Amino acid sequence: MKKLSIGMRLTLWYFAIFLLAEFAFGAGMWLILRKNLLDIADEVLEGQAADLQRFLEARKDVSPAQLQAEISEDYKFERSADYLQISDAGGSSIYGSRFFEKHPLPELSPDQLVRPRYENRRLGHEHFRFMSEMMTVGGRAYVVRIGHPIDEEIETLDAFRGYLLWFAPILLLGASGIGYWLSRKALAPVDALARTARTISGHNLSSRLEPLHTGDELQRLSDTLNEMLGRIEAAFRRITEFTADASHELRTPIALIHTEAELALRRSRDEAEYREALQHILLEADRTARLLEELLDLARADSGSEGLDIHPIDLLATLRESASKWNQVASLRNLQFEEHLEVQKLPVMGDENALRRVIDILLDNALKYTPSPGKIMLSAEEMHSHVIVSVEDTGIGIASEDQARIFERFYRVDKARSRELGGAGLGLAIAQWIVQLHKGSIVVESEIGRGSVFRVEIPATTSAVDKHPGQQ
Ligand code: ADP
Repeated sequence: MKKLSIGMRLTLWYFAIFLLAEFAFGAGMWLILRKNLLDIADEVLEGQAADLQRFLEARKDVSPAQLQAEISEDYKFERSADYLQISDAGGSSIYGSRFFEKHPLPELSPDQLVRPRYENRRLGHEHFRFMSEMMTVGGRAYVVRIGHPIDEEIETLDAFRGYLLWFAPILLLGASGIGYWLSRKALAPVDALARTARTISGHNLSSRLEPLHTGDELQRLSDTLNEMLGRIEAAFRRITEFTADASHELRTPIALIHTEAELALRRSRDEAEYREALQHILLEADRTARLLEELLDLARADSGSEGLDIHPIDLLATLRESASKWNQVASLRNLQFEEHLEVQKLPVMGDENALRRVIDILLDNALKYTPSPGKIMLSAEEMHSHVIVSVEDTGIGIASEDQARIFERFYRVDKARSRELGGAGLGLAIAQWIVQLHKGSIVVESEIGRGSVFRVEIPATTSAVDKHPGQQ
């Protein structure tokens, strides 16, 4: 079943609450009016009873027969005698108006009259309020029953009920209508937001919802949605740019492989020429494979399934291992390599392979961008409960405007040069992602022509460190 709109549900609630309130109010008013009207009738009855009491007290010594005669005589023209009935304690009638001959009252036993008894009765076509009372005068007990017609009161009550029944639905409909109108008015901006939101898709992510200036929850809602759209747009743009850059990067080595193979096949060549062509193809294939690996790493980073195995490790062992590898590469390129690892250990919470990757990226860059003769330095220390690893070179340096951007994906200061050296501009982006996953930071200091320093800072741990596989 389709759910009702909020506006409709609010209206129904409004209707139900109003109905209940009206019913309670109407019933309450009717009961109060009835009680007041009956109180007035009761007062009349009590006055008549007091008169009768006085009458009986004045004749307390006369015989019952005499009393009967006097009552009949005295009350003949009294209005109060129209509905009066007096009997003695034994139940024999002393006086009874003629009305009761036609409409006799049911007998009451003395124990029902311990206190004066008030009741409403319908006799014939008329409504009465009756008061029944036991009166004791001069040692004699009388059962007195006095009636008072209350047709007018009943009519008033009926009329009042009629007004209520007429008035209530009109009020209810009016109130529900106003409730519906108010809820529509309050929710109209939500409808407008929903309408605009529905038109926003991947093609027009730069559109925004109409900003509201109501200063209330709705403004907060539209502001929050707009902020969310901003974030989605930025993420979307990043993905689009990434895909475009990745395709572009992949196209170059594949085009080179294609050209190289095509040229080699154009005519028959000797073995040395084929060998050279295949070597070029191999180099480009390696580059493509490395690029694909880097792209995969970043895709994994974006999807959040980073899959790092973080546990207590001694980073010193990893650094020493990397240093010995890069020391050899440096000497092949006629570069001086220095390591300053004068510490006992560097305990961190980390993933060994991932951190080795960071050091490799930094040292690879340092070697790539430092012409011979030059110097590369790897150092590490523990300071303020942080492990700081620095990779310093005396290479070409990075201009200050580029320093902030080199951590972006595919950003290269000198595109042609970096590509020649085998880089696609992804190394530092991967390094930064890994360091951030270790709750650390990576910064660069550099000066054109003098060299660069990359500093990685990771919180040190006090947990017991796992033994490195290389250590005995
Ligand atoms: P690449 O694979 O192209 O080296 P990186 O993300 O590792 O990509 O580096 C981005 C860019 O930063 C490089 O293209 C290079 O221009 C610059 N760069 C990185 N390290 C150094 C360095 N040690 N000296 C000078 N420039 C550097």
